[in-house]
Amino acid sequence: MSEQEIRAGAAVQVTAEAPFVNLRDPAQALGADGKPARSRRAPRWADVPDEKWDDWRWQLSNRVNDLEEIEGILELTDEEREGLSAPDKFRVDITPYFLSLIDPKDPNDPLRRQVIPLGREAQAFTGMMEDSLAEDRHSPVPGLVHRYPDRVLMLVTTQCASYCRYCTRSRIVGDASQNFNRKEHEAQLDYLRRTPQVRDVLISGGDGLTLAPRLLESILRGLREIPHIEIIRIGSRVPVFLPQRVDDELCAMLEKYHPLWINLHFNHPDEITPEVSRAVDKLTRAGLPVGNQSVLLAGVNDCVHIQRALVHKLVENRIRPYYLYQCDLVEGSGHFRTPVGKGLEIMEGLRGHTSGYAVPTYVIDAPGGGGKIPVMPNYLISYSDHKVVLRNYEGHITTYEEPPTYQRHDSASCTYCQHERPEPGQSGVLGLLEGERMWIEPKGFAEIHSRGNIEQHRLQDPAKWVPYGVGAIEGRSREALSVLGAGDASAAEPNGEKPEYGPGEEPRPREGEPTGSAHGELL
Ligand SMILES: *Cc1c(COP(=O)(O)O)cnc(C)c1O
Ligand code: SF4
Repeated sequence: MSEQEIRAGAAVQVTAEAPFVNLRDPAQALGADGKPARSRRAPRWADVPDEKWDDWRWQLSNRVNDLEEIEGILELTDEEREGLSAPDKFRVDITPYFLSLIDPKDPNDPLRRQVIPLGREAQAFTGMMEDSLAEDRHSPVPGLVHRYPDRVLMLVTTQCASYCRYCTRSRIVGDASQNFNRKEHEAQLDYLRRTPQVRDVLISGGDGLTLAPRLLESILRGLREIPHIEIIRIGSRVPVFLPQRVDDELCAMLEKYHPLWINLHFNHPDEITPEVSRAVDKLTRAGLPVGNQSVLLAGVNDCVHIQRALVHKLVENRIRPYYLYQCDLVEGSGHFRTPVGKGLEIMEGLRGHTSGYAVPTYVIDAPGGGGKIPVMPNYLISYSDHKVVLRNYEGHITTYEEPPTYQRHDSASCTYCQHERPEPGQSGVLGLLEGERMWIEPKGFAEIHSRGNIEQHRLQDPAKWVPYGVGAIEGRSREALSVLGAGDASAAEPNGEKPEYGPGEEPRPREGEPTGSAHGELL
C-alpha cells in the first residue's frame, strides 16, 4: 500500500468511528470544558446557576439601570456618571448578558458606547429633530408608518431588551406609558385589511421579540389572515442583547407564519458571541432568512477594518448584511455622527475586496421622511463640504447636513487597524494616488494594441458595427455609411446583400463572430 492509500484508509476509519464535527461552524463552537462555548460573565453574576442565566425571563428581570449598580460592574468615567445621572435621559436598561461582554476598564469599548450614556447626549446639534424621519406624520393609525407604496412599518411595542443610545425612535421607545396595546394592534390590522396595496409588513418598535410570546403570535396570525400580505419581516435586536430569547419554542411559533424574514442589528464583531451564533442558527433552521442592518457610529464602528471583520463574521453565521445606515439626526446622537465620506470609504473598502454577499447597501434615511436613499450615483446628486443632496425613489430632492465636528477614528489604538487583513498584490488605485503611475488601462487593453489586433475590437471593425441610426434612412445604409464616413461600406455588406437590420439596430453577429457578451472580454 502506498502512503496515500494508507492515509485514505485511516480517514475512512476515523469517519466510521466518530461523527464529523464541523469546527468551522460557529454555532458548534465548544468551550475549554468541551461543552458549548460561552462568553464572559461579569464577576457580579458568577454565582448565578446556568439555568437561570440562560433563561431570557431571568435576563430581562435582572436588567441593570442605575448608576450604583453599573458602577459595581464597570469602572465609570466622570462623563458616564454625568450621563447616567441626567434626570431626563433616554432609558438605560442593560441585560446582564450584554453588560458582561463589556471590558470594565476600557471607556472606549464599542459595546459600552452603545448602551452607557455620556453627558454629551444632552447636547443639541444643527439639524437635530425629535422625529427625524417624520414617522408620526406618515402614520394613518398610531404605530403604523405607511411611507412606501407597497410596504409598512408596524410598531408593535415601545419596549426593547436593552436600549441603544443612538435610537432613532427615542421619542417613544423605552417609555412604558406610550406602549401599544391590543386595541392599537387591532387598529393597525384593520388599516392593513382595507389597504390592499400593502404586500410587505415590517414588525418593529421597540422590539417585537420582547412581546409576550402569545401576543406576538396573535399579531402574526392577524397578519397572515390578510390575503394580500405576502411577506412579513421582523426587525429585532433581541438576538444581540438577549440571545437566550431565541429558543426552540419561539422558532417553532415563528415558522408557522412563513414567508417570514428577520433582520437583526449588529454593529460590531464583538457582539457576535457563541450564544448569538447558536440563536441565529436556530432562526435559519426555522427557515427564516436572516439579514443585518448596522448603524455607522463614530467611536464604535467607523472603521473599514472593523466593518470588514463584522461582515465576515456575519456571513460565517449565515447572516446577510443588508443595510449600513447613516446615523439619523436624532436627539442624543450628535456625538455618534460621521461624515458621509466615512461611509463611502467603508463601502470602497468592502466592494470587490470581499464577497458580494458580505457587502451591504449604504443608505441615508432621508431627514423629513423621504425614505431610505442609497448613497450611490443616481441618488447622490451632489456633495459639498457640509451638505449632501439626495434624490429619493419618487424623485423628491432632499439634503443631509454633515456633522460640524467629527472625532476621527484612532487607528493607532484600533486592534482591527493594527491587524489589517493583507491583500497581497492588490494595490488598486493606490499607485495613482501615490504618483507611481498616471493611468490604469483596462485589463488586456495594451496587449490587443501591441499585437496589432485591433480588428478584434468590435467597435473598430466596420463589418461588425454600423454607426447609423443618427440621420440614416431605412434601406439606404450604404449611403448613410459613406455620409458618416464610417469606413468602407462594402465591408459592411460584402455580398451586396440587403442588411438584416434596420436603422438604430445592431447587426446580429454572424456565425463564429464574437457576441455582445464577448465584446466586454475583448476590452
Ligand atoms: C425601512 C422602512 C421600510 C422597509 O424598507 P426596505 O428598504 O424595503 O427595507 C418600510 N417602511 C418604513 C417606514 C421604513 O422606515
Ligand atoms: S433595539 Fe432598536 S428600537 Fe430598541 S433602542 Fe435599540 S435601536 Fe432603538
